Amino acid sequence: MFRVIILFVLLGVSFYIVRLVLSNRKVQRHLRKSEGKGARKRNQKNNMLRCIYCDLHIPEKEAIKHGDNVFCSLKHASQHQQEKM
Ligand SMILES: [Zn+2]
Repeated sequence: MFRVIILFVLLGVSFYIVRLVLSNRKVQRHLRKSEGKGARKRNQKNNMLRCIYCDLHIPEKEAIKHGDNVFCSLKHASQHQQEKM
């Protein structure tokens, strides 16, 4: 009976370790992904981007991206498009 208990404990511990390693790998993969985007984008919460139309700096979250171009508003994005044509 004692052996069975030890077996169960070992199973539980190894299961726990496997889960720990797997979640650790996920975190590492996530970190590697964000590192791949470059140091500039590492601090995404406070990252400021510049509107190429009016030079206004806006948080990345609020920026409107159109290809490689960044705009502060949809209005500037469409105005930029019209001027290109
Ligand atoms: Zn703008």
